Amino acid sequence: TPTIGVLALQGDVREHLHVLESLGVRPLAVRRESELASVDGMVVPGGESTTIAKLLRIFDLLDPLRARIADGLPVFGTCAGMILLADRIEDGTADQETLGGLDITVRRNAFGRQVDSFETSLDFAGLTDPVHAVFIRAPWVESVGEGVDVLARVGEDPAHGRAAGRIVAVRQGPLMATSFHPEVGGDGRVHRLFVDLVNQRLAQP
Ligand code: GLN
Repeated sequence: TPTIGVLALQGDVREHLHVLESLGVRPLAVRRESELASVDGMVVPGGESTTIAKLLRIFDLLDPLRARIADGLPVFGTCAGMILLADRIEDGTADQETLGGLDITVRRNAFGRQVDSFETSLDFAGLTDPVHAVFIRAPWVESVGEGVDVLARVGEDPAHGRAAGRIVAVRQGPLMATSFHPEVGGDGRVHRLFVDLVNQRLAQP
């Protein structure tokens, strides 16, 4: 049984732990380097990316997590977690640090600010039925590098305005990220895709 950590510095940690538990893996709230060392995969939750980045520094986890990403650790970032995995951030604060690893450019708070949340159903690569996606002050992906697979976009419906057609889920090797919150709403299918990535990685010699 793989152990999948959830970075537990800030944000919606508990929801991710619950979904992972429901999928039969061993969930672990991660706050220390020793805990990070014991995981087979990591979830970086939603919350506030600038705050999480500062806490990663304070808890001495920024460089260890970067090192494990460089070593091929599967990581799933949701919302703020997507921002933290992105190599490039638009509308970030000037000194915003990231973990990086995903060759994408994200735009923070792209759908609008504060009260602006947005829900829609999305076709998601690898899933047969659409996913109900909840966006909360979410980023979207402005552009992706060559090695990045687009897993989902907002529908082209003109009712979605500027959000129509935007990329909201990506994967590059063992790194996966969604703009929305798949831990909200009791649908474990997106997490299941991530657990599959973790199991694939564990099966490699
Ligand atoms: N707006 C937040 C940020 O920039 C992300 C919001 C979220 O994770 N729900 O970090």
